[in-house]
Amino acid sequence: MNPVRTRAVFEREEFERLAPFAVKSGASRGRLHAEPEHPYRTVFQRDRDRIVHSLAFRRLEYKTQVFVYHEGDHYRNRLTHTLEASQIARTIARSLRLNEELAEAVVLAHDLGHTPFGHAGERILEQLMKEHGGFDHNRQSLRVVDLLEDRYPCWRGLNLSAETREGILKHGCRWEHPVPVPEATAQPCLEAQVADFGDEIAYTNHDLDDGLRSGLLQPETLEGVAIWRDTARAVTRRLGPVPERIHRAQIIVSLINELATDLVETTAERLAAAALSSADDVRAIPQRLVGYSPEIEKRKRELKRFLYRELYNHPRVVGSNQRAEEVVGDLFCAYRNDVRGLPVQVRERIAEDGEARAIADYVAGMTDRFAIEEHRQRLGGSL
Ligand code: MG
Repeated sequence: MNPVRTRAVFEREEFERLAPFAVKSGASRGRLHAEPEHPYRTVFQRDRDRIVHSLAFRRLEYKTQVFVYHEGDHYRNRLTHTLEASQIARTIARSLRLNEELAEAVVLAHDLGHTPFGHAGERILEQLMKEHGGFDHNRQSLRVVDLLEDRYPCWRGLNLSAETREGILKHGCRWEHPVPVPEATAQPCLEAQVADFGDEIAYTNHDLDDGLRSGLLQPETLEGVAIWRDTARAVTRRLGPVPERIHRAQIIVSLINELATDLVETTAERLAAAALSSADDVRAIPQRLVGYSPEIEKRKRELKRFLYRELYNHPRVVGSNQRAEEVVGDLFCAYRNDVRGLPVQVRERIAEDGEARAIADYVAGMTDRFAIEEHRQRLGGSL
């Protein structure tokens, strides 16, 4: 018996181990540019590794989730958000007999296209790019993996598989994209749907945690939110008197667990009822099969409404977003006025991508830290 487990073995095992409706690496629709496959890694393992080794992935460390990096070392940034989201998605995918490595690859790539300063940066680029084809962070993630990562001699991008790209794209491609995109279907595969929920469970809970840590959210106001109140009481019953910080941490732990467990159980029931025999059956069904029970869906919505009202629209967050929009907007306009300010590799892309798009790609790729420093040097800004 060969002591080394090869890709062929992993591929065979997937056909035995995974559900019929899971995506199998051995049945991948392949990459844009044909490459010999790896002897020991499946196509999705290899996608995951390419993403983790990319420049854009490392830059996630200095990109905002809600709090700009200099506000404190304990807040989530896009890198730690991505890691939390990927672990949650992997757990869900594994429990449902889906392809864990595909779900993982999709989550690890899902925020690569995020601008500096979170959605504030995205909003201003959307406005500035209105006449030039628009801007959207999901599309930008696809641009990063398909066009902007620069490490191969014969093609642009990371040359990921069709399935990972399908997951990054989420809802099909509504925009102009210079290379062929995966065919639009009613829904993406289950692994991509799970990736979406891993993202949502992660950010809902860690934004709550960071909001409380920052003092922008008060624990008393959360008493009005049913899912928080009931979980807090259950934690009190289970643990008895414990220090406040332990109590709060345990509520977050329980909330993540409650949401992920409900998602797995509800989705498993729906999958059993739908009696699907392939990943293509999933893609053809108009409604998403991955989801919460109606009760948890309602409670989760209430919690998210609370976060929008109390955290994302908190005057301090709004103020910091306004300054962030100025930084991103000023930089974009400064490069538009004088392209000589751009690095040579960006200027080289202008011929192929157009000036506005090349600048948007460059600005979107910046970390908060780099954007603040560039703004200070070029425009005398101070953030
Ligand atoms: Mg995310």
